[in-house]
Amino acid sequence: MNTNTNRGWLVAGLAAFGLVAVVPAADAKIRVVATTQDLAYFARVIGNGEADASSILKGFQDPHFAAAKPSFMVEVSRADVLLSLGLDLEIGWLPLIVTGARNPSVMPGQAGFVDCSQFVSPIEVPAAGADRSKGDLHPKGNPHYWLDPENAKKLARGIADRMTQVDPGDAAAFAGGLAKLLSEIDQADAGAKALFAGSEIPPVVTYHVTFSYFFERYGIRPAGFIETKPGIPPTPGHVASLVTQLKALGKAPAIIVEPYYDMEVPRELGAQVNGRVELTPSSIGGTDEARTYKDLIVTVARKILGK
Ligand SMILES: [Zn+2]
Repeated sequence: MNTNTNRGWLVAGLAAFGLVAVVPAADAKIRVVATTQDLAYFARVIGNGEADASSILKGFQDPHFAAAKPSFMVEVSRADVLLSLGLDLEIGWLPLIVTGARNPSVMPGQAGFVDCSQFVSPIEVPAAGADRSKGDLHPKGNPHYWLDPENAKKLARGIADRMTQVDPGDAAAFAGGLAKLLSEIDQADAGAKALFAGSEIPPVVTYHVTFSYFFERYGIRPAGFIETKPGIPPTPGHVASLVTQLKALGKAPAIIVEPYYDMEVPRELGAQVNGRVELTPSSIGGTDEARTYKDLIVTVARKILGK
């Protein structure tokens, strides 16, 4: 798929600056680079052996922040498709990588650039006037939409369409991969539903609004958040009012913490309210338990229930 002649001299140029050691040979597989491990997993399953997929971030890293490293630019310079979550989640770092990569195929507006938020309807869209520079991490709505299996199916179909558009020769393989992925997503949803059915769901506290789409899908109302607001760290006053609020519920809460947040405040909170603190994956690769999409969704349900 690597047909762009400009890319050859670009990679060679980067090699001259010591940024890449080896110029890889072109091969027949479509190259997909994704911002997150979830999107890379989707592309790999859809690819069905006909795609090389990698992610810039690992599932245990905070997707709101990343460094625009030269190695990421080299990766994107060789991509046929670049998958991003959009809704400004990656705005602090992805534009720098795309600019540095100088790959015309994956520039915004090209078929190779995919803002996956176009496939879903965002929730928690703030009223006009939200501004990331004032600390609002979600100026265009909550970007953690992959944690709802219904959204995941929409994502899977959208990604498969775009991969097929870029590499029509592998359409049959991608159709087969998409069917496998949709079936896995259905199993994820069924697995979570089976765990929640007949179980009493404890009050759930999370650090950030990462699980809002998951909660909506399974009818869970979060009991509180550890950070003061999206992107703003907890203050002693906020934690004190959270303690009062949780004690008033009279039930031990599950305190769900994404892998990239500091555990100190969650542990203190847990000690004060007799809560169960659970390190919980919010992406594939977030913890060792979450190696597939099904495992990710089922693990989140298990952590909430303490099963
Ligand atoms: Zn967020």
